[in-house]
Amino acid sequence: MARDPKYDILFEPIKIGPKTLRNRFYQVPHCIGAGSDKPGFQAAHRSIKAEGGWGGINTEYCSIHPESDDTHRVSARIWDDGDIRNLSAMTEHIHKHGSLAGVEMWYGASHAPCMESRCTPRGPSQYASEFEMQTYCHEMDQDDINEVQQFYVEAAKRSRDAGFDIIYVYGGHSYLPLQFLSPYYNKRTDKYGGSIENRARFWVETLEKVKNAVGDDCAIATRFACDTLYGEDSIEIERDGLKFVELADPFIDLWDVNIGDIAEWGEDAGPSRFYQQGHQLTWQKFVKTVSKKPVLGVGRFTDPEKMTEVIRSGQLDIIGAARPSISDPFLPNKIDEGRVDDVRVCIGCNVCISRWEIGGPPFICTQNATAGEEYRRGWHPEKFPKAGSEDSILVVGAGPSGGECARVLMERGYTVHLVDQAEKIGGYVNDVATLPGLGEWSYHRDYRETQLEKLVKKNKNSQIALSAKPLTVDDCLEYGADKVVIATGSSWNTDGTNAATHDPIPGIDASLPTHVTPEQIFAGKKEIGKNVVILNYDPYYMAPSLAEKLAGDGHDVTVVSAAPFGHYMHFTLEAPNMHRRMHEMHVNILGDTAASRAEANRLEIYDVYGDGSVREYRGPGKLPRNENKTHRWIEFDTLVLVTGRHSNDELYRGLKARKDEWKDNGIKDVYVIGDAWAPKLIADATFEGHRLAREIEEKRAQYPKPYRREVATWGAPHMPGGEYEIEYQN
Ligand code: ADP
Ligand code: SF4
Repeated sequence: MARDPKYDILFEPIKIGPKTLRNRFYQVPHCIGAGSDKPGFQAAHRSIKAEGGWGGINTEYCSIHPESDDTHRVSARIWDDGDIRNLSAMTEHIHKHGSLAGVEMWYGASHAPCMESRCTPRGPSQYASEFEMQTYCHEMDQDDINEVQQFYVEAAKRSRDAGFDIIYVYGGHSYLPLQFLSPYYNKRTDKYGGSIENRARFWVETLEKVKNAVGDDCAIATRFACDTLYGEDSIEIERDGLKFVELADPFIDLWDVNIGDIAEWGEDAGPSRFYQQGHQLTWQKFVKTVSKKPVLGVGRFTDPEKMTEVIRSGQLDIIGAARPSISDPFLPNKIDEGRVDDVRVCIGCNVCISRWEIGGPPFICTQNATAGEEYRRGWHPEKFPKAGSEDSILVVGAGPSGGECARVLMERGYTVHLVDQAEKIGGYVNDVATLPGLGEWSYHRDYRETQLEKLVKKNKNSQIALSAKPLTVDDCLEYGADKVVIATGSSWNTDGTNAATHDPIPGIDASLPTHVTPEQIFAGKKEIGKNVVILNYDPYYMAPSLAEKLAGDGHDVTVVSAAPFGHYMHFTLEAPNMHRRMHEMHVNILGDTAASRAEANRLEIYDVYGDGSVREYRGPGKLPRNENKTHRWIEFDTLVLVTGRHSNDELYRGLKARKDEWKDNGIKDVYVIGDAWAPKLIADATFEGHRLAREIEEKRAQYPKPYRREVATWGAPHMPGGEYEIEYQN
């Protein structure tokens, strides 16, 4: 199909300095965990987006000098010839598809803890970072300023040598140039402090020097947090923000405009729980009223209608995207080909970001199981190897893992029967998406639903059976499939079994009318009383989400939290606003508090760190610490049990127990994936379904094949010869 002409504007080329961007789709810098040390990962992840139609694609933040070392988090680096060589793998592969490659030159000042290099960062004044509170910077004098500006210039030259077309001086997220601009950091009284002209001087001079050095060959960009959301204490768009745009505009070919700071950068990478598509436009749109240069901005843009409206109305010239490009690297091509319904829409969960925040591991995506797997597993998001046999496959359970497994198997050409007792594809996601703010998570289901329906039409032998009677072991044995995949999910524990004690909590019993599991709340069959206690041993979203839902429904909510409450939401950037929401809704959170036993209407709780700080050997049968004497009872009308989960693996274990009957029933193998194997993130359940579908012809397909590792090998060149081609399965 041809693209809808109303989207033509998104495909118009635009000049940025000496370069031309082939369309208006632009992957802004974003972290993936590749840096410069995993060049295959970096090159493959970025260039797949060039293949998918993105006109401009960037590195993540890229350190210009060891003084800006963000270890334990992974940044790119352009410190030396080795980095030039590694990053040129990325630029070469991007150029093959006619797109531009950009590098985001970064100096973090006190926000960079320099744990690897052990350098002391320099900054405009001396302060401790509000993000890395143990890191202080050294206040720069004029010599320091000259030197650090030269770091940018030298790094820009190395970037040009690595083949980059667009070179950023990065001042978003409160990194060094913005620290000079903002009175929140800059307390100087010399020509670099005080008035806006003085505070802008460092940034403007740096841009000018970089432009003089490489501006004939490369476009010069800057990322600018045009409003840090602190009010008068820092940068406000209609005061210093626009003034800075005016001062810097002559030295810039491309503005990349966002809002917020580093300590709460979820205001920029807004989770769907709090922010919808285009949530930064009310600030970003001002920049074009002053600048004569192209302006781009992010805002989790996934809908071509919205993108078109944003450009037509003159708010932005180019659509910036990080997460939508991760979730669907082929988003531009799908719009171009009139296949908008095939777009795998980002759900705004920020699980991708969580991995960078944790530091180290490659990132993952809830929607796109191939994200980060392009190089090491050779997974292409839109291409699949042809079926390796004529086998027919029964998949039981159409949740994230089963749905994804069936989709990929059908893409490969297998005959698949996907069976679920539920009315809808989506499994657990159908419940989760009813929680406050999580409606957009249902795009995970919608994508699979749409694709499976299309695939079943193409492959007449495949079927989707919903509202089916629950399949038993006999049903599976007699089904007639060559292979069986069990994806029956997990359930919340009904007896209080939890991560701390690994045992039930005496008295907890979800068959009582006053004790409820999350599933029982979703099912809506139990009455919830006024006074609710949520017992929480889970560190992610379920307890905060249920607290918000129940408080919103008028209940008085107390959370007894043995797990750090919503801890994982720090990594997904949801935590600050989640805590504000809890406070506004008068949710009472008892942290570091666990439960020892329960009755129908009361719970015995205790302070996890009550008594017993001294440890000594007291002989067998005696605890080595003093008894915790903080136990007390609290009352409730309803107790909500967010204590732990267990796999629904009866079907799998039943089939395993009758392995000797498989052959007679024509069954070659049985697999278990997703939560039915072990409870996990939706992203990981989706990944497991995808992986099994790609590897189902392997001898031990239950277990993943090894992946290509990018490691320094003792006694061998860093990248062993000949193994650095990107090769996709097809
Ligand atoms: P995962 O995240 O691993 O995909 P989910 O819990 O989201 O797990 O999905 C599991 C799905 O399996 C649910 O939709 C559930 O209705 C379905 N299911 C569980 N047991 C059976 C069964 N015996 N027969 C048919 N469907 C089942
Ligand atoms: Fe979007 Fe979530 Fe994927 Fe990140 S992990 S790109 S937020 S769907």
